[in-house]
Amino acid sequence: MKIPSVKGFRDVLPNEAAARRILIERARAVLESYGFGEIEIPLMERGELFARSVGSTSDIVEKEMYAFDDRDGTQIALRPEGTASVVRAYLEAGLSRAMPIARLYYLGPMFRRERPQKGRFRQFTQIGAEFLGRDDAEADAETLCLVADICEVAGLSGYRIEVNSLGDGECRPAYREALVEFGRARLADLCDDCKARLERNPLRLLDCKNEACSAVTADAPMMIDHLCEPCRTHHDRVLQLVGELGVELTHNPRMVRGLDYYCRTAFEVSAEGLGAQGAVGGGGRYDGLVAELGGPQLPGIGFAFGLERMQLAAGDDRPELNLDIFVAPMAAEAAGPAMALARRLRREGWKVEIGASDKKLKAQLKRADKVGVRYAILLGPDELESGRATVRNLGARSDHPGCFALDATAEEIGRELEGTN
Ligand code: AMP
Repeated sequence: MKIPSVKGFRDVLPNEAAARRILIERARAVLESYGFGEIEIPLMERGELFARSVGSTSDIVEKEMYAFDDRDGTQIALRPEGTASVVRAYLEAGLSRAMPIARLYYLGPMFRRERPQKGRFRQFTQIGAEFLGRDDAEADAETLCLVADICEVAGLSGYRIEVNSLGDGECRPAYREALVEFGRARLADLCDDCKARLERNPLRLLDCKNEACSAVTADAPMMIDHLCEPCRTHHDRVLQLVGELGVELTHNPRMVRGLDYYCRTAFEVSAEGLGAQGAVGGGGRYDGLVAELGGPQLPGIGFAFGLERMQLAAGDDRPELNLDIFVAPMAAEAAGPAMALARRLRREGWKVEIGASDKKLKAQLKRADKVGVRYAILLGPDELESGRATVRNLGARSDHPGCFALDATAEEIGRELEGTN
C-alpha cells in the first residue's frame, strides 16, 4: 500500500525546483545588492517565542502553529514565520551591541496548519528580510523599494504594494478602543469570528472577508485618521520618499496584517493570477519587538515573500531541466569508455546523461529526445576501433553526423558539437 504525503505538505518536482532556484538566486542578488547578509535560523523554536512576538491572540498562534512537547517537556513549535527567530538569534549572538544596525535575510520553510487550497499549504517557503536598528522613514522607504525590486526580478505581473500605517503605542490604544466600541454597537451583525475576537484583536474586523462584516465596517473608524503627530509625519515622509523613488504604492486603510508586533508602516504585496490567496508577500515595522524579546529598545522593519505564490503568480514558464548531451554506449565494452567520456564532459560543465549499453540505440535516442538534449554522442565497437566518437545533432534537420577523437580537448569537442548545427 502506498503511503501518501501529509495533508498540506507537498513535493517540489525538478522543473519547479529549478524555477524556484532561479527565483531564489535573483531575489538573493537583489537582497545582497541592498547590503543584506544571509542568516540561517532553525526550523524549531520554543513555542513561547511566537506567543510573545506574533501574539497569543493571533490566528497563527491560536489555531495554526505546530506546537508540541519535546521528550524532555520543552514546549516546541515549528516556526510559522521568520522574524521572531531572526530577532532571537540576533540577540542571542550579542549582535545588538556588535551590530546595532543590521540587515539580515533568511530563506526556508515555514509551517502553519491552515486549510490547504491553491497557494496555501501547511509547509511553504519564505524569503524574508529584517532591517534592524533604524526607525527613520528613510529605512521604510528603502525597504519598500527593495520589495518592489524583488517583485520586478521575480517577474510578477501587475503586482501591487498596499500600505497603511498602524500607528504606535501612543495613538493605537485610543484607536483600538474606538474600534471596539464601534464593533460592540454592531455586534449582532458581525460574523462569529469577529464577535469572538472583537475585544482581543479588534483590528482584524477590518480585514474580515465576510461580506456582512465588510458592510458593517464600511464606515468604521480607520487608524490612518487617528494617527498621532509623529506617526503622521513618519507616514507622510515614507510616502513622499517612495514617490520620489518612482515606486508605486496603493493606500489601503483596511490593511492591518495579522500579527501583533507591527506598528506604523505595514504593507502587503499582491499579484495577479492567485485568486483568493492574492498576497505574495507582506511586512512592516515592528519597533517594540526587540525589547519584547528581552533586548534593548531597537526598532526594525521587515517583510517576507512566499515562494510558492510568487511562482504561481509569475506563471508557468518553468524552464525544462534541459541537458546538453546524451552519451549512448552501443555495446557492453563501450560502457566504460562512455562513462569516462561523460565524466570528462561533466567536469567541463556540460549536463550529461548516459544511456545503458544493453538498450538499443533507437531506445536510447528516444530517451535523449525526452530529456531535451541537443547532442547525442554515440560510442560502439566501430568508434572504439577508430578511436573517434560519433556526434549527432538531434535538433538539426539534416543528418550529417560529426565525430571527434576520444582524446580530444574540451575545446575541440565543443567545436565539433557546434559544427553539427
Ligand atoms: P504573512 O507573514 O502571513 O503575511 O506571510 C507572508 C507571505 O508568506 C504571504 O504573502 C504568502 O506569500 C506566504 N504564505 C503565508 N502563509 C502561507 C501558506 N499557508 N501557504 C503558502 N504561502 C503562504
